[in-house]
Amino acid sequence: MISPDKIVRSRRRTLSVSVDAFGRVTVRAPLQCPDAHIFAFLAQKEDWIRRQKDRAAQSSVVLPTDCLEGYRFLLLGREHTLRLYEGTRIRYDERSATVFLPAEKARERLVQWLKRNARRIFSAVASRRAAEMGTSYPSLTVTSAKTRWGSCSYNNALHFSFRLLYAPVAVIDYVVVHELAHTFHKDHSRAFWATVGRYVPDYPAKREWLKEKTLLMEIF
Ligand SMILES: [Zn+2]
Repeated sequence: MISPDKIVRSRRRTLSVSVDAFGRVTVRAPLQCPDAHIFAFLAQKEDWIRRQKDRAAQSSVVLPTDCLEGYRFLLLGREHTLRLYEGTRIRYDERSATVFLPAEKARERLVQWLKRNARRIFSAVASRRAAEMGTSYPSLTVTSAKTRWGSCSYNNALHFSFRLLYAPVAVIDYVVVHELAHTFHKDHSRAFWATVGRYVPDYPAKREWLKEKTLLMEIF
């Protein structure tokens, strides 16, 4: 039997159930709906709910707890491990995909390091792609945005969340091309997507990857 994590009652006529990226089950129900109806409804939907929960479990995004020792997360799409140590500098070992982090102010130091690397990598991709696309931008800023991977402002200034660094290079490349395409089209019109598609033909797969991994937005 499935029991919901949350029941939200409101002035609605029908029952609905949703499963979020963490596998939590929320039921929306009419104000006077008896619990027995809710459980019968969930029993009917049990197979679907189980499939959604399995999918959430496989998304392999685990949020960090207070202690970062041993925490595993994606960097450029590859799983990395954090190791705390008594040093003063962050050390990166590419072969073993390990980031050695000074134990003091570990989280703060890590975010600074991620932002620095994000800036270096996104800038390199953006300058190469801008040249190919025949466009330019006045500035590129790395932000801590949690709701969008990138944006392009009215004056073509580019902004990217440092969390985009968790994505594979091909996905980063798509987001950069997407924002650069906004220097030509300030909307998501057909013309806009045609421009994106010219430089990243399989962009739907990249969008899908980002959609499946929205939980990465919550890491650090
Ligand atoms: Zn856009």
